[in-house]
Amino acid sequence: MRFVSTRGTETVTLDRALVNGIAEDGGLYVPVELPVFALDDFATADSIPDVAAVLLKPFFADSSLAGAISQILAETFNFPIPVTSLPTSDGNASLLELYHGPTAAFKDVGAGFLAACLTRLEGDESDPLTILVATSGDTGGAVAAAFNERPGMRVVVLFPDGRVSARQAHQLTCWSDNVLSLSVTGSFDDCQALVKSAMGDTDLASRYRFSSANSINIGRLLPQSTYYADASLRHYRTTGIKPGFVIPTGNLGNALACIMAREMGLPIGPIVLATNANRTIPDYFETLEWIPRASVQTLASAMDVGDPSNMERLRSIIGEADVLRDCLGVLSVDDDQIREEIRRDYTEFGFATCPHTATATYTWRQLDARLRDANDWILVATAHPAKFETVVEPLIGQEVPLPEVLADILSRPSRAVSVEPTLEALAGAMEVHFGQ
Ligand SMILES: *Cc1c(COP(=O)(O)O)cnc(C)c1O
Repeated sequence: MRFVSTRGTETVTLDRALVNGIAEDGGLYVPVELPVFALDDFATADSIPDVAAVLLKPFFADSSLAGAISQILAETFNFPIPVTSLPTSDGNASLLELYHGPTAAFKDVGAGFLAACLTRLEGDESDPLTILVATSGDTGGAVAAAFNERPGMRVVVLFPDGRVSARQAHQLTCWSDNVLSLSVTGSFDDCQALVKSAMGDTDLASRYRFSSANSINIGRLLPQSTYYADASLRHYRTTGIKPGFVIPTGNLGNALACIMAREMGLPIGPIVLATNANRTIPDYFETLEWIPRASVQTLASAMDVGDPSNMERLRSIIGEADVLRDCLGVLSVDDDQIREEIRRDYTEFGFATCPHTATATYTWRQLDARLRDANDWILVATAHPAKFETVVEPLIGQEVPLPEVLADILSRPSRAVSVEPTLEALAGAMEVHFGQ
C-alpha cells in the first residue's frame, strides 16, 4: 500500500509516511485506496490484536515492518478496550472504554503504535531520534508514556507552565531519562512555536534528528480503526445489528478512524460527531463553507480545536460538506450542557464521565427519537474522568476513584526543567539533559 499527500500526487511507502509525519508539500498522507473487507475475513479474529492484524495487513504491504506486525500490535494493545452496556431504559446503548491505557486516554493507542513502529524504523542507540512534542495536556503524556525507555528514542515534551492541571503536569514529568519534560514560561502557542523553530534550525535538527508524533501522523490514525472494527464485529455477530457510534471530536482523528472502518466494510451504522463549543465542523455542515478559526477554551479541553487538521483527510477520502453531511451527524455541546450531562450521567449510569465523553452521551440523548430507537449505539469514552477531577468532582459531589494506571503515574517522582520560551533555552536544556 502506498500513501499519497492530500495536496499532491507523489506516493510514499508506509515507512516513509510514518517517519515524515507530514508530506513535503504540507499535505497529510492518506492511503491511495482503502481496502474493502468481507465479514468472513475476520471469521477467526477474536481479539483486538487479531482483528487489527487482518485490518492493517494491506497497509503494511511493501513496509519493512510487515514481518513485525504481530509484535507491534501486541505492544500497542497491551491493555483491554471493553464495551460495556449502559443501564438505559431501552437497553440499546453501550460505552466503548478507550481509557485503560498507560495514561488513561484513547491517544495511548495511536501513540503506542507509532512508538512501536518508529523504534523499529529509526531507533538507533548511537544516534537517537528525538521526538519533539508541544502539549496542552493529553497528547504529551501519551507520547511520553509510549516512547518511555524505548532504545534509540528520545522525547522532549514542552508544556505551558501553570496552565495544565497538577495531575496532567505529573503525567508529563514522571518518565525515564530518555524523556525530557520542559515547563515553558509561556503559553501553549509559545511551546508550539518553539517546536517549529527547533525543527527549522538546521544545526539542532541534524544534531538531534528531530521528528514529531503529532496527531496528523498516519501512524496515530491507522490503529484507531481497529477498535471500531472489533467493537462493531462483536456487536454485529451477537445481534445482527450494525451499531452506530457517537464520538467526541476535536482534531477529527478518532472519528476519521471510525469513518475509515465503515468505508472498509465493517458493520458500522450511523456515525455522529460530538464537538464542544468549537463549532467549525457543525458550521461547515450547515453553511457548506469551511471556515477555520481560533479555538475557544472549553471544559472538554482536549477537543479545543478551531481548525481540525484531519478535515483535509476526510474531504479527500469522502468528499465535501454536501456529501459529508449525508453520511455523518454532528452536534456542538457547550460547557453548560457538558456540566449538566456529567451530573445526569452520574445519576443515571452510576459513574462519572469525563467532559469529553459527556459531549457524546449528551449528543446521544439529543438524537432524533426515531434515529435513536432504530439503532443500537456505542458511545465513545475517550478519557477516564479521574484525569479531569477538578471539573468532574464538584459536579457530582464525590471523589472519582483513581484507576490503577493513574495511581501508578502519580506515585512516581516528577521532574521538569523550567525554560524560557526561547530556542537558546531549549537547546541549553537539551544539551544539559542529554549530554550532547
Ligand atoms: C484528543 C482527545 C479528543 C479528541 O480526539 P480527536 O481525534 O482530536 O478528534 C477527545 N477526548 C480526549 C480525552 C482527547 O484526549
